[in-house]
Amino acid sequence: MSLMERIDQVEQRITEACRRSGRNRDDVHVIAVTKYVSLDMTASVLEHGLHHIGENRWQDAQAKWDALGSQGDWHFIGHLQTNKVREVIDKFRYIHSLDRISLARELEKRAAALNLQVSAFLQVNISGEESKYGMPPEAAASFLKEINSLSHVKVIGLMTMAPYESSAEMTRPVFRGLRQLRDELNEQALTAEPLTELSMGMSNDFEVAIEEGATWVRLGSILVGKEED
Ligand SMILES: *Cc1c(COP(=O)(O)O)cnc(C)c1O
Repeated sequence: MSLMERIDQVEQRITEACRRSGRNRDDVHVIAVTKYVSLDMTASVLEHGLHHIGENRWQDAQAKWDALGSQGDWHFIGHLQTNKVREVIDKFRYIHSLDRISLARELEKRAAALNLQVSAFLQVNISGEESKYGMPPEAAASFLKEINSLSHVKVIGLMTMAPYESSAEMTRPVFRGLRQLRDELNEQALTAEPLTELSMGMSNDFEVAIEEGATWVRLGSILVGKEED
């Protein structure tokens, strides 16, 4: 299937999921995850009008960013080591994997030095799977309180990854759980502005995530494909 065909099919499925759940299509943003594909394919993705690019390792993203950085908005979606912050801070507009205080402090320090504002998602491990990064849901409120004073890191929402399931329907409680957590946190008014964003849903489960309120879906294999090295 060509890239154009994949984009069209994904678009139809997003539109359907929005229709089923009474949501506005414009409230769901697509991040094209290019971690499996080459620089050429990433250029193609941008040429096809996809503007948000997701990468999970700086080592793999670097060549693409050097060539194409100014053409899109870049999202860091993978686990972020504190010692990599200096490299990514001025390149990725969004960090989806804020999961510990030490990382928040390092982001603040580096962003302040460059007079930048970073938008971040708290990564939460809703499923409780041991293999998943992210803080436990119970830790989110105190985390937000603790980082509230950081002026260069703005938490705009929550992110989670669901376990891989053969039936996407089985991921629904995870996505619903993230949305409920966001709503509970907003009721406590821990942030200057309410958390509006939910980064959830991948190739295997994005329609369920959209039905449960995703505002950002992170799509790799189904959208941009997968190239073997
Ligand atoms: C790889 C990755 C994705 C995209 O994965 P697909 O299943 O190929 O859509 C989304 N989010 C994160 C955090 C990833 O690492």
